[in-house]
Amino acid sequence: MLRWLDVVTFARYGNPEPPRRVEKSAAEWAQLLPPEQFRVLREQATEPPYRNAYCRAYEPGEYVCAGCGSLLFSAATKYHAISGWPSFTQPAHKNAIWYRFDHSHHMQRVEVRCNVCQGHLGHVFADGPAPGGLRYCINSASLRLVAPEQEDAKSAVSLGVDSVPPQSE
Ligand SMILES: [Zn+2]
Repeated sequence: MLRWLDVVTFARYGNPEPPRRVEKSAAEWAQLLPPEQFRVLREQATEPPYRNAYCRAYEPGEYVCAGCGSLLFSAATKYHAISGWPSFTQPAHKNAIWYRFDHSHHMQRVEVRCNVCQGHLGHVFADGPAPGGLRYCINSASLRLVAPEQEDAKSAVSLGVDSVPPQSE
């Protein structure tokens, strides 16, 4: 479980190695992404509070990066923070997220990005619920919710049949 000290250590001394890297030019991203997602992921824009896709979504599943498809958060860690944006207590993996001190807008914050494609996600704060105490405040436009596998696929897994990884491009 990550805590605030881990977040500060990553931002100050260096982030964990991502499982892979996706690097594209701004022009390539602009062709791939709808305008709203491009503004948030590649230009650090913030979408309006409450009027966004996943603010009040609590369906099970996994949230992947809207840019590169990498797994970022499990819906099981999503909670109601009354902030107006999707909020999570922990990333899906320790190396899923990239951290940076952000002093813009006269605030002291820690920006979070997808560790694979460097897409802007939002910010992480130290006022989350116990035991980890983290609140990842994330733009819906940076995320895509992937529903859990169908029951058939689950029974196939239990029978030892190879399953399709949850990540997709
Ligand atoms: Zn990504």
